[in-house]
Amino acid sequence: MSESNTRIAIYPGTFDPITNGHLDIIMRAAPLFDRVIVTLALNSDKDPLFSVEERMEMMRRTVKDFPHVEAAKFSGLAVDFAHREKANVIIRGLRAVSDFEFEFQMALMNRKQRPEIDTVYLMPDERYTYLSSSIVKEVARHGGNAEAFVPPFVLDLMREKYGK
Ligand code: ADP
Repeated sequence: MSESNTRIAIYPGTFDPITNGHLDIIMRAAPLFDRVIVTLALNSDKDPLFSVEERMEMMRRTVKDFPHVEAAKFSGLAVDFAHREKANVIIRGLRAVSDFEFEFQMALMNRKQRPEIDTVYLMPDERYTYLSSSIVKEVARHGGNAEAFVPPFVLDLMREKYGK
């Protein structure tokens, strides 16, 4: 396959921490592309619980069994990172109508920057439509049961962070 036919996608996010919802999206994206780069957006306004290295390590562990999925990080615009990686697609997850407005704005703004890059939205299994990294942290912080929502090693790391 020539390089121009290679389907490369980036999946950008904050991943603080990576959840089963993110994993669900990765599982759906993996067979659709030749290469998927799950990538940490470093310039987020959010104040993360986990350090960049901790989040990268969680991402690496989550993708390790997918042969053509890898973890990376970037600062600046996602479209510019995609361009550098020769990716033609940005993957995002759509959980509910509430995600739509922001995502719509982002997709059109990204298209203005680099028209050759499209955003592809994937919908997770309905079990994860209400799941976000924030709600998982909230549950874990109060000593609740977050077992069904994150990979087991992420659960352990959250317990360490919160001492619960
Ligand atoms: P961001 O700060 O970019 O929203 P997140 O790590 O929260 O970063 O999310 C990265 C991407 O994964 C976003 O497209 C988000 O909609 C999607 N996502 C997050 N949680 C879920 C979930 N439970 N199901 C499907 N997609 C999700």
